[in-house]
Amino acid sequence: LARNPGEVEFHQAVREVLESLGPVLVKNPEFAEHKIIERICEPERQIIFRVPWVDTHGTTQINRGFRVEFNSALGPYKGGLRFHPSVYLGIIKFLGFEQIFKNSLTGLPIGGGKGGSDFDPKGKTDGEIMRFCQSFMTELYRHIGEHTDVPAGDIGVGGREIGFMFGQYKRITNRWEAGVLTGKGLNWGGSLARKEATGYGAAFFVDEMLKARKDSFEGKTCIVSGSGNVSIYTMEKIQQLGGKVVACSDSNGYVYDEKGINLELVQQLKEIERRRIKDYINYRKQAKYVPKGNIWEIPCQVAMPSATQNEINGKDAALLVKNGCIAVGEGANMPTTPEGVHIFLDAAIAYAPGKAANAGGVATSALEMQQNATRDSWDFDETEKRLHKIMKNIHRDCFEMAEKYGAPGNYVVGANIAGFIKIARAMLAMGVV
Ligand code: NDP
Repeated sequence: LARNPGEVEFHQAVREVLESLGPVLVKNPEFAEHKIIERICEPERQIIFRVPWVDTHGTTQINRGFRVEFNSALGPYKGGLRFHPSVYLGIIKFLGFEQIFKNSLTGLPIGGGKGGSDFDPKGKTDGEIMRFCQSFMTELYRHIGEHTDVPAGDIGVGGREIGFMFGQYKRITNRWEAGVLTGKGLNWGGSLARKEATGYGAAFFVDEMLKARKDSFEGKTCIVSGSGNVSIYTMEKIQQLGGKVVACSDSNGYVYDEKGINLELVQQLKEIERRRIKDYINYRKQAKYVPKGNIWEIPCQVAMPSATQNEINGKDAALLVKNGCIAVGEGANMPTTPEGVHIFLDAAIAYAPGKAANAGGVATSALEMQQNATRDSWDFDETEKRLHKIMKNIHRDCFEMAEKYGAPGNYVVGANIAGFIKIARAMLAMGVV
């Protein structure tokens, strides 16, 4: 704590992982002897930089850029960029730390990193977004590369932003290096199913948890918070698997549609017109919009938080359980507070922590890197099939590891231990570096 003052989200993420690892250190004393824990909590490198740009009024603006290159034991640093006004070092470090274990769980050769800026994309023109992205990349380019560090999107960074950043990287380096960024457009090196991957993957994971309990999505009432990339494709896959999503949200409020959320409408509003979720009720008369409402008050059987960190607190968790929720799958990173997590675990509902449930996004980014490396592109079905298999494997590994360590059904313990052991062994093999 004293070493990283004020980085509350980072402390929360580290504490949650370390709470699971006691028995692993007892079984493997060499991990403690070689200070694997101390090393894993210290980023290999963190970069903080100025991002100056000029807005449409000709006024100079200054933001702060970050890239935390946390751990490269398993492969090049890999993790998204977040553009949101709440971004500071503690957020990027929590996300980077989580990413190490998540990437390990995918079984693919990727290390952990994360980056972003306190830039607020909301209400900015395309020109402003482009100038910001170009300025951001003008510093970031010297730190990344297909064998070094491969950023992708996260909150506030989608296909448009990746395009502007790729363009600037290409211009500065004079290299058409597809593998430097993932989440690219489909006609210039992107992978089919990447856009869908995090949400689809999260729904696949919950499907596996339900199957392990001899249950399924069929006929279940579901809530998916957010209305961004992860939320939209979580809703799509839930619907394909037979569930009914009745509510989604943004940071201003939620919409409730008892007939089931009309996904085409959400996509039109959010992906094409870049509008707010409240506009949904202009087109669906039976739906209601609750400004500043708490989406977790709506009774559901499956809850999939897909907006941001700490969006479910202890009270929300208790209410979800009381209202009959039997499964929670985290599309977002660390969306449940520690108090909330304990409530889910004590209630013995099926609870999937983000580092396992949302790993499908980065896994498909790694598949995009594979396609780039071989200058190939796979069709949608092939990529989705691979994603599905990866999510099944992650579920199996977490499930089995939890049993092995005496915590059956506890996917938090399972994910933390399964992710950690792979990295710890690689770090041991590579000596004190
Ligand atoms: P988007 O920017 O596409 O969407 C974010 C959504 O969450 C928006 O609806 C946004 O509403 C809402 N939101 C963001 N911040 C807040 C907040 N402080 N309070 C309430 N609502 C908020 O991001 P993504 O869908 O990509 O990311 C969502 C989550 O999933 C994040 O936790 C991210 O780290 C995680 N994730 C994303 C992956 C990916 O592939 N994109 C991979 C793995 C995890 P508003 O428009 O009002 O801000």
